Amino acid sequence: MKGARHNVPCEMQSSQPIDVSPRVVMAGASGSGKTSLISQYINQDFSPSVMSSVGIDFRCKTLLLTSGKRAKAQLWDTAGQERFRVIAANYWRGADGIVYVFDMADMQGFLQVERWAEEATKSAKPGTTGVLLGNKSDLGYRRTVTREQAEQLASRLGLRYFEVSAKIGLNVSEAFRDAIEQAANFKIMRETQEAQLRQEQQRKVPVGEEGEKEAAGCCAVM
Ligand code: GDP
Ligand code: MG
Repeated sequence: MKGARHNVPCEMQSSQPIDVSPRVVMAGASGSGKTSLISQYINQDFSPSVMSSVGIDFRCKTLLLTSGKRAKAQLWDTAGQERFRVIAANYWRGADGIVYVFDMADMQGFLQVERWAEEATKSAKPGTTGVLLGNKSDLGYRRTVTREQAEQLASRLGLRYFEVSAKIGLNVSEAFRDAIEQAANFKIMRETQEAQLRQEQQRKVPVGEEGEKEAAGCCAVM
């Protein structure tokens, strides 16, 4: 059985320079398939009895974005604490993107997604992106959540919706790629804005004579 801890550490995965390292976190009911989806995406592997690891863990994936930038995404997984809905605020705060998962055959879990989103947005950085995944599409005959219901929820929450199966690997890499692309763009935008803000602040703060001169030069009203 492959647990998150047996994966190659992030640092060793790529020898090429990385432009952006977005963090994408998983959210959703216990049993919806979050760990299986990560495992399918990273290792093209599915195990019917996934080991629930202890403590929050993450795995990495290096990929070339459509922008031409090289990303090393961190995919953070919960470790069972979602059963008690006690995910620490810094789990959300550290995220650049959130992958909300529900099991198509579990209406209860689907109805919880909205509460997960509320919980996440309380602590997440404003503008954090996300996708909604309806998992276990291979069990179509047991389905209780319709595509229409899921699409409505996704549009209400401003998320893109994918129907996936961790078991047969259907749509899994497309969904993660979308989540990672959005998270990477969000992170790049945020870092650019922060850098601009820092530059502006440095220009405004008078440091000795130099700064005073510049402040006078730029802003004095004659
Ligand atoms: P988590 O609690 O959200 O991390 O869910 P897990 O990844 O542990 O999966 C819960 C159970 O659902 C496990 O028994 C998985 O084998 C099963 N499972 C996960 N994804 C799929 C899927 O796409 N299809 C089917 N048939 N079973 C799945
Ligand atoms: Mg899990």
